[in-house]
Formats: sequence, C-alpha cells, structure tokens
Amino acid sequence: MDIETFFSTVNKNGPCTDTGKTRCWIWTKTKPGKLGYCRVRIGGKKTLAHRLAYEIVNGELTKEKPCVLHKCDNPSCVRPDHLFAGTISDNNADKVRKLRQSRGKAHSFPGSTHPASHLIESQVLEIRVRCSNGERQKDLSFQFGISKQAINDIVRGRRWLHVGGPIHNSRIRVLNETPRNER
Ligand SMILES: [Zn+2]
Repeated sequence: MDIETFFSTVNKNGPCTDTGKTRCWIWTKTKPGKLGYCRVRIGGKKTLAHRLAYEIVNGELTKEKPCVLHKCDNPSCVRPDHLFAGTISDNNADKVRKLRQSRGKAHSFPGSTHPASHLIESQVLEIRVRCSNGERQKDLSFQFGISKQAINDIVRGRRWLHVGGPIHNSRIRVLNETPRNER
C-alpha cells in the first residue's frame, strides 16, 4: 500500500495532545479494539494500523526496535510524527506507565491536564453539542478515536462536567426545563 492511499482515509482533525502540539490522525477504516489499537489486514497478514503507518513511512521495523510507540498516547493515532520505534523494554515501560496513570492518579487531574488525556475542553464541548444535535455516540466515538463509554461519560457529564455544554442528565434536565404542564 502506498503512503497516499493509506493516509487518504484518516481523520486529520483528531485530538491535539500536549506532546506534539499537532492534531492526531485517527485511523477510521477499522474500529479500535479493547485497548484502542486498530487492527488491519494487509496481504493476508494481520497487523495494527499505527505499526503499518510507521512502516509505510520509515520502512520495516528492525529486530532491535520492533515496537511502535505513541508520543501522543493515543492508540488509534497513525500520524507518522507521533510515532516512534522502540525496544520491547521501552514498550513494556510504556504499558506500565499507562496502567499506573489509569489506576492511580486518574482522579486528581481535571480534564485536559490529565497526562493521559486525549481530549481538550473544546472537543468535549463539540462532542456534547453534536450529540445533542442528534449525532450518534457510536459515530462520535469513531471520529474522536475514544471509546463509546468515554463518549457516553462526556455526554452525561460523568466526566468533564466543568466544561459545560448540553449535558444529557435527566436530573439536570428537569431542573433546567419548564415543566410540561406550564407550557
Ligand atoms: Zn497522535
């Protein structure tokens, strides 16, 4: 597969991470798996979209550095300058770091200051607005490269409540809307 074909279907309007200051390119052709990485099949061989992206641009991975890691911590990102090759121990250290972040300090960072955050406030707002305009959470999850659960948490205000926007929470809605019998 050539570079142009491969990158023609990515969403170049992905989240902007602290590391790169550039937007992630989200792989949209296949859905992300449990860990967020997107599987692809090429020439009968199964691989991962970000690995393929790296190899298409930089050539085959070497035995010394057989893993492709994300500078941006966004598993569905395939932007070449957000990727780098690493050793197996680099990869393991990276996994341990992410696991620690998701278990430990996860709740002490608000919103986009969280080191593992893939979103910025304006995108959370965009997700809420688009969802209240009738866009499906499934489609938003695909476009923003985050899980359906994460989209649902955003829409219901279980996460990023401080950002505001239209929040689909039955309790909040009752407080804000005029009761039916008074209309
Ligand atoms: Zn990225």
